[in-house]
Amino acid sequence: MSESLPISLYLVPTPIGNLKDITLRALEILQSVDVILAEDTRTTGMLLKHLEISNSLQSYHIFNEHKAVEKLVERMRRGEVFALVSDAGTPAISDPGFLLVREVIAAGLAVQSLPGPTAFVPALVNSGLPNDRFVFEGFLPHKKGRKTRIDSLVDEPRTMVFYESPHRLIKTLEQLAEAFGADRQACVSRELTKIHEENVRGTLEELIAYYETNPLKGEIVLTVAGKPERKESREEKQEKRSKKYRD
Ligand code: SAM
Repeated sequence: MSESLPISLYLVPTPIGNLKDITLRALEILQSVDVILAEDTRTTGMLLKHLEISNSLQSYHIFNEHKAVEKLVERMRRGEVFALVSDAGTPAISDPGFLLVREVIAAGLAVQSLPGPTAFVPALVNSGLPNDRFVFEGFLPHKKGRKTRIDSLVDEPRTMVFYESPHRLIKTLEQLAEAFGADRQACVSRELTKIHEENVRGTLEELIAYYETNPLKGEIVLTVAGKPERKESREEKQEKRSKKYRD
């Protein structure tokens, strides 16, 4: 269905490290909405100060998400306009937001996400792995369901993108090497857009060896090649051709 209603909720991406990564439209929206909903009002407060924007902030995080949604939708019905931001990157991408978007749509109100910073896009592109098709896996479950999730990806042919914390990276690389094979190509993108940005490419085995001697700090995205398509052998091609002539 087409939407010609005025927007009630904007999702506004904010920088993932480099404070210059904010769009002109993001600045305009953050300045003009009635209220900015923030995952952490202190973090967003500092960003707004840097951007010289003063506007009212209200807390919206994973712990109050369910409770807050109903009240917010009611305020939108009465005409208030909100912007949702997370601590960094695009709201609702491995961050709170999905629930609010869903309920605002269900209430027949209009939502718009601005394009802007997010960690998985530069990581995927920097990896040099095929990106015509890919899967975004976000964070793997820490305990329950972790192995099941990894096993479900064993035959995945598309490039896979994971968010991961630095202290869990080696364990994840080891588990993926066990499931996918140690020779699978991958890339660890660290501190994207920041001064110490680094993209380390290699097989899973090479990355394990690298990070065992180079302790890891900062935020990371792990990109892993999909399962290589099996090439047809000459015999199989020949067999196919002769079958075509026989049929
Ligand atoms: N909403 C964010 C987005 O759009 O990318 C993601 C938020 S999620 C809570 C945080 C994770 O994103 C980090 O653990 C890391 O995996 C990834 N991340 C965020 N900023 C990053 C950066 N500058 N460099 C590498 N990874 C980053």
